[in-house]
Amino acid sequence: MISELYTLQKWLNGSDNIVCITGPDFSKEAGFPDYRVMEEGFLDTYKYKPEEILKVSFLQRYPFYFYKFFRERMLSPMLEAKPSPAHETLARLEQAGRLKAILTVNIDGIHQEADSRNVVELRGSMMRNWCAKCEKFLDFSYIPDSPTPIAYCNVDMCGDYVRPAIVLGEEPFDLDLLAQAMEQVRSAKVLLVDGSAMGIFPVPNLLKAYQGHQLVLFNTPPLVFDKIAGLCVRGAGTFSDIFSQLELEL
Ligand SMILES: [Zn+2]
Repeated sequence: MISELYTLQKWLNGSDNIVCITGPDFSKEAGFPDYRVMEEGFLDTYKYKPEEILKVSFLQRYPFYFYKFFRERMLSPMLEAKPSPAHETLARLEQAGRLKAILTVNIDGIHQEADSRNVVELRGSMMRNWCAKCEKFLDFSYIPDSPTPIAYCNVDMCGDYVRPAIVLGEEPFDLDLLAQAMEQVRSAKVLLVDGSAMGIFPVPNLLKAYQGHQLVLFNTPPLVFDKIAGLCVRGAGTFSDIFSQLELEL
């Protein structure tokens, strides 16, 4: 075992106040690829870039392309995804009373599927739907079971779009949720951070609240964030690879 993993094991076994921040790489291990990444031919199919599509104004103007992108690139892969061993390890750490919270920029509900309970979904969740006009949360099945490509709200003949309850571009974040996440980070002893979340709002802001000395960064580019970390783990494989090498007292 490389020495970084030995230190990680010691810190995890020595703490009952672990908080973990997860990002796209964590979901990738569960078989849910990062929908923001454009492969060759992407623009031929979807015409617009992901960051342009995932905006409120885009949904209003081009609902067909919004739902096409959402169904094909987000919803279908999410339904195929299964929690990875790393997701299961986090759930077990929580059940053992060691891990206090998962703060995630992922919107796929995979942590909950692995039985994690205290998951703060900083950017919302595709597992919930929402109608902006009636301001009601609606069943998950609304979009997958919609008879038309565009999903319309049928509450009291409303007729507006039913959309996933995720934070789209141009929309404000839930300030109560951010405050809750900030508090979790502030009071955490060991803070684990998936490097792929580092560039995604609000993660960089959350890190500023951390007051401990056991910040563990996974798979961040060398040197960029090293000075703020107590430990950098890189080159040790996926989260599932890393956790499988640890002897955790659970
Ligand atoms: Zn409605």
